[in-house]
Amino acid sequence: MNNAVSLIKMDTLLKVLQVVPGTSVDGPGLRTSIYLAGCTHRCPGCHNALSWEFDQGTPMTVDELMAQIRAHDFNVTLTGGDPLQHRPLEAVKQLVKAIRAAGYTVWCYTGYTFEQLQTMPEMADLIPMFEALVDGPFVESLRDTSLIFRGSSNQRILRPDGTEADIYQ
Ligand code: SF4
Repeated sequence: MNNAVSLIKMDTLLKVLQVVPGTSVDGPGLRTSIYLAGCTHRCPGCHNALSWEFDQGTPMTVDELMAQIRAHDFNVTLTGGDPLQHRPLEAVKQLVKAIRAAGYTVWCYTGYTFEQLQTMPEMADLIPMFEALVDGPFVESLRDTSLIFRGSSNQRILRPDGTEADIYQ
């Protein structure tokens, strides 16, 4: 394999902490949740502080992840970590495109607020591919266990246009 081919292949790898099929806590219905490594938000009280380091997890190609997604046949949620901080972001985009092309919806958890994402040009072609975005950091003082699919009341479930999503079931 020459260097160019090797580099392209490395670019398409995602660092996957876990693939959890059949979960009901990360969006409506049963879903396959994919935990991607890395997060700099470092929210006090984070539910998954072990996910913060970027250089961990199993390197997987989009094709390898798609094989698992198809086998389980559920819609998909990206979580982590912060999937929108995962690098290369292009690999995340390729994954989301492939999931959508296979007919599944994608929810995405992120520590960024929707307003912050609007200022990030690299997100412009990614956000519209999500069915819903659960936005914002976890804020311990706003923790509310009665909330569906969220940990604290500052977090919102939004459609890609920023309106509140009502797609809870
Ligand atoms: S954004 Fe999520 S993964 Fe990152 S520190 Fe906050 S709660 Fe944890």
